Amino acid sequence: MDDIKKKFESLPSDVSLLAVSKGQSVQKIRYLASKGQCNFGESRVQEALPKLDALQDLNQITWHFIGKVQANKVRQVVKNFNVIHSIDSLKLASRISRIASEEFKKPKVMIQVKLREDPNKSGLSVEELLSVWKEFKQLTSIDIIGLMTIAPISLKSDERKLLFRECRLFADHLRLKDCSMGMSNDWEEAVEMGATWIRVGSLLFGDRDNHN
Ligand SMILES: *Cc1c(COP(=O)(O)O)cnc(C)c1O
Repeated sequence: MDDIKKKFESLPSDVSLLAVSKGQSVQKIRYLASKGQCNFGESRVQEALPKLDALQDLNQITWHFIGKVQANKVRQVVKNFNVIHSIDSLKLASRISRIASEEFKKPKVMIQVKLREDPNKSGLSVEELLSVWKEFKQLTSIDIIGLMTIAPISLKSDERKLLFRECRLFADHLRLKDCSMGMSNDWEEAVEMGATWIRVGSLLFGDRDNHN
């Protein structure tokens, strides 16, 4: 893990590394945290909560939720995570805002956008988000900081770059600072095209125990 961490030391100052720790052990998270990594991302509530619990003493960690948020898990996500990258509908955003207000929280959130057809991924298209953007902005207990996107695996490098560029321009258009894009295989392209958060799992930690 040491060599790889070096790779990320030269990230531009406006780009942050989110270490995606799903499928990784508490020990590995602890190790990276001891090397100065503060942001970790999990994608399943059930897996994440015991890990958060076991790492409670590391209060420098900011926890990000990057997976599909199920309606019945919203309260747990709101209570345990500081940032949510994966808001894929207005309905979910409204629910998160309502529950956050009940919990006296105001999570930072990103809206997941789907800029290419991809049956395996969720997210709003540009048209969909534009049509409900006003309603999103009226939600008072979430702080919308950016957009998140995942490039379909079928894309070639230049097609991915175009997609990342579109995400950056769309965020700029909405006056949002953050773009959460780029993973182990495409983070360099995402940084080049204007990511502010890269979500890197296997490249940082090695292979996961479970693949999701
Ligand atoms: C698993 C996951 C990642 C990290 O994937 P790697 O290929 O291991 O870097 C990033 N973003 C999301 C949404 C994920 O689910």
